Amino acid sequence: MTQKPNLDTKKASVYTLGCRLNQSESSVMEQGLKEQGFEIVDFKTDSNLAIVNTCTVTARADSDCRNVIRSYIRRNPDAFVAVVGCYSQMGYKTLSEIEGVDLIIGNQDKMSVLDYVSMGKNEKPLIIRDRIVKEDFTIDTMGQSDSKTRANLKIQDGCDFMCTFCIIPMARGRSRSREMDNLLEEARVLIAQGFREIVITGVNVATYESQGRTFLDVIDQLNELEGIERIRISSIEPTTIPEKIFDYMADPNHALVPYLHIPLQSGSDKILKIMKRRYERQDFLDFIKKASERVPDLCIGTDVMVGMCGEGDAEFEETCDFLIKSPVNYFHVFTFSERDGTPAVKMEEKVSPKEKSHRSSVLRAISERKRLKFYSEYIGREFDVLFESGHDGLWTGYTENFIRVSVEYSGNLSRHIRRVKITHTVADFAMAELVDE
Ligand code: SF4
Repeated sequence: MTQKPNLDTKKASVYTLGCRLNQSESSVMEQGLKEQGFEIVDFKTDSNLAIVNTCTVTARADSDCRNVIRSYIRRNPDAFVAVVGCYSQMGYKTLSEIEGVDLIIGNQDKMSVLDYVSMGKNEKPLIIRDRIVKEDFTIDTMGQSDSKTRANLKIQDGCDFMCTFCIIPMARGRSRSREMDNLLEEARVLIAQGFREIVITGVNVATYESQGRTFLDVIDQLNELEGIERIRISSIEPTTIPEKIFDYMADPNHALVPYLHIPLQSGSDKILKIMKRRYERQDFLDFIKKASERVPDLCIGTDVMVGMCGEGDAEFEETCDFLIKSPVNYFHVFTFSERDGTPAVKMEEKVSPKEKSHRSSVLRAISERKRLKFYSEYIGREFDVLFESGHDGLWTGYTENFIRVSVEYSGNLSRHIRRVKITHTVADFAMAELVDE
């Protein structure tokens, strides 16, 4: 028996777990819901409809998804609940056992979720989980929810690289690209909506290839758009990066900002080989050294994974040593988690959870020190800052090279780009004063 949900008040919320690509897709879903007349409300308040955009990159991500869904259903037993994304693709059987879930959509069709929201509650969830097709794609809804300063622009999805620890090629499918005209159309809408920074987003962005156009063409075309101010690349795989972007980043008149987030994963050649990454530590080091020589004030961030099978004390120390000595300015630390369907599941020489946790905290501390050192190098220098949010007269934003800056100001700085001088560092940000008043 099906029962129609009460959608008179039309309140909806979208909850996002996982990566920036999910954030980008959720923003598009929110925009689509608004166009259908829904008011977007906080996930913790009552609503008639929830979309949970899931992640399955670790076992912890899976359990976070389940907890979020269950607690929403407890608060809103009559609401329509749609669960979409990577965990829906890989863990649909487990999700279908959660009472109160009405719809489960994998990655092929997740952006069509709004076509199903009026179908009514079901005793058993409808599961839509098609094989992911490798072909160029478009996105119909344009623009994003208006609460943020930086807009994520999805240009690509999926990955062909098959690193041995990674579930993404199974969860999101093989690499495919968004048609150029379609992504440019959204970029124009975002600029018109007042977004001052566009963040190029995807799983493996530099493998972009659509109708003979490459990743460099995407940057060239975005840079030509009227009103574009900042373009940032969210994350880019080593070995895929065209060196031409160094020229763009070094050119103050180009919108591409001097920022590179390049996942290293490990500083040990033995582990890189086990992971089937496509470079050795020296290749990575040579590349980032060249990048920092050619791009003034470049910020280099990276991702590191601890606890991969085979990572003994010696390999971990190699990673620490690499990160301390190389021109990496900060890093995100991830803990290896076995994912069914990946080659790493069958590997030996597992690392204990306690050791993983210890290594993770060691690396986080190194990252914090490096970030602060990076910020300190800019004390006394002036930068343009794009301000995002403010509390109690303290406004925070980012420089082009991703220094997190705070200034005291009694007015409204949200979405403003202002000139500041960095004065000192506090905790994990740089304090500054406005110099263009
Ligand atoms: S490059 Fe490797 S780690 Fe990154 S998404 Fe592709 S398979 Fe996963």
